[in-house]
Amino acid sequence: MRYSPLRHIAAVFCKRRPLQFTFFVTKRCNARCPFCFYSNREAHSESLPAELSLAEIDAIAASLPNLLWLAFSGGEIFLREDLPEITKIFYKRNKPAIILFPTNGLLTSRIKEVVSEILRACPKSTIVVKLSLDGDETLHDAIRGVPGCYRKTMETYAALGELLDQFPNFDLGINSVFCAKNQEVMAELIDKVGRMERIKTHTVSLIRGEMAENGLKEVELKKYLAVITRLEANLKTQAAAIYRFPGARLKAAQDIIQRRLIYETARQNRRLIPCYAGRLNLVLSETGELFPCESFTMGLGNVRDHDLNINRVLASGQAQGVLARIRNNGCHCTHECYFMTNILFNPRLYPTLLKEYLQVRPAGSALS
Ligand code: SF4
Repeated sequence: MRYSPLRHIAAVFCKRRPLQFTFFVTKRCNARCPFCFYSNREAHSESLPAELSLAEIDAIAASLPNLLWLAFSGGEIFLREDLPEITKIFYKRNKPAIILFPTNGLLTSRIKEVVSEILRACPKSTIVVKLSLDGDETLHDAIRGVPGCYRKTMETYAALGELLDQFPNFDLGINSVFCAKNQEVMAELIDKVGRMERIKTHTVSLIRGEMAENGLKEVELKKYLAVITRLEANLKTQAAAIYRFPGARLKAAQDIIQRRLIYETARQNRRLIPCYAGRLNLVLSETGELFPCESFTMGLGNVRDHDLNINRVLASGQAQGVLARIRNNGCHCTHECYFMTNILFNPRLYPTLLKEYLQVRPAGSALS
């Protein structure tokens, strides 16, 4: 029996405890993506500050409640040697319903070995691995800055595909970053991913944040709209096949609303719905800095200065000031992960959610 997302239903009314936790486990990386939050100099440096140890992570996890969603991020997360142990700590302490592992797919055998170990150790969580894919072979290798990256990603896809039949709690997906370099070919990429039979979910993230190559953000929003319209049509007819966990229809309805809101937020350049970052969502860096979201300018404090206790960081004057700014609409963004909680836990959006839910084909219904 897997951990049910319904355990978190009280957060619709009371938003005092985080349920979505993102942990940047390392800055280290073996690729050179121009849209990374970290500079290539940092990602390839040999003298980075000390990453949180397993003992520190255990203490931090002990100060968190049960989680709906745990996401690892980086850097390339599979470069962190103790990733299985880190995952097991959160699994034991926080019982996440979903655990997300995004990867550039360069370390095929290491990724397969680690994912197999985690699938065996965490049977009650849905384990989601998202492989990055941004175009055909030439374009993908150029964007990721690594010759042969596309080929390695495909090898990792094949290797992980073998685990799908063995582990019903495993979900294998693709994430593509929609940017100026691939906006012309994203429709082709969606079709290509649609033909990869072991892939169920394809997320397309609108490029965001600060980066070395700011020209990548010069996207044409009408092209993004065409892409999300295409993905929406797929979701409406195939939700039950796309998501291998309970609540697939609801997740599909939320995805549809999320993408429309992201398009409108980018078009209108303002926040359209309340943001629960800092209350329902938290982001932890590899050195213990706590943030409400991936906007790394809004530091809440470092857990190392607060006895490795998340609640003590949140109670600080610094954190309370940041949270007040967020509540007062001080910022906006298009980050997909935050829209998920901002939609699912906002009762004002339930009529819209219900309308979309009813249009998503239920599991087992015949195709018309
Ligand atoms: S709107 Fe975006 S930038 Fe602002 S707090 Fe929410 S997630 Fe962070």
